[in-house]
Amino acid sequence: MNESEFSPQSTEPAGKPEAELDRRRFLQRCLPLPLTVLTLIEVGQPGDGKGAESKPAEVPGYKAADHNYAMGVDPASCIGCGRCAEACKTENNVPREPFYFRTWIERYVIQTDGTTVVTSPDGGINGFPPTRESGVLRTFFAPKLCNHCASPPCVQVCPVGATFTTQDGVVLVDQSYCIGCRYCIQACPYGARFLHPVTHTAEKCTFCYHRIVKGLVPACVEVCPTQARIFGDLKQRSSPLSRFMRQHEIQVLKPHLNTEPKVYYANLDGEVR
Ligand code: SF4
Ligand code: SF4
Repeated sequence: MNESEFSPQSTEPAGKPEAELDRRRFLQRCLPLPLTVLTLIEVGQPGDGKGAESKPAEVPGYKAADHNYAMGVDPASCIGCGRCAEACKTENNVPREPFYFRTWIERYVIQTDGTTVVTSPDGGINGFPPTRESGVLRTFFAPKLCNHCASPPCVQVCPVGATFTTQDGVVLVDQSYCIGCRYCIQACPYGARFLHPVTHTAEKCTFCYHRIVKGLVPACVEVCPTQARIFGDLKQRSSPLSRFMRQHEIQVLKPHLNTEPKVYYANLDGEVR
């Protein structure tokens, strides 16, 4: 089963006033042009400082280059309660509709006939109904989110430099630069992005960047009752994440794509992609 069938993300925008021929729509109409032409009419590229006003505010004393953030996930600990998805929606004002998620949970049901059934009703935010008793070999849950890839295709395809990687290894979207072209949504092999129905810009997990630069963990990590999510700094050997990675056999999703994901799964079942 292809996970795109159950990915909760939607890319359909809500209506926008027809008369509004703003910069965003103008650029969208230009997209069939070669990217070199588009670059000439656009206003900036990553690192040129032009988007600095909409990048996360600097926190006194915080040195981004000293960190490289990532997340660990332990599917064996996840009970599919959905608290992480709910906390994420609240923390980040994610639209309440059940098809917009920055993080979601999938349930894998391995059946005795060898088939695997994958479901994620409403992103798992309300938990999961019981599985039928017979014919089930085992079940487990796999929380998913943006992998904050070290080699992110979403960044590579963005024609206006709105998607970028921070010095501390977090992939973000500069909302003031995003033109809503959806290139990044299509390029992400993990279904981690969606188009916000109101702002018409690309959205996804930020690792709760506004929290982590203050020394807090992402909201999903904070509320998880079983510590199935572990957040940390790869540059600190003593961080909970570094310990987690030393203590488990680690896999990433779709390693053959060479995106270098930074969400690390412990003892991941081969059925999860
Ligand atoms: Fe980009 Fe998708 Fe990787 Fe996140 S998971 S960094 S959105 S390619
Ligand atoms: Fe799994 Fe923790 Fe999320 Fe509950 S809060 S679904 S246990 S990761």
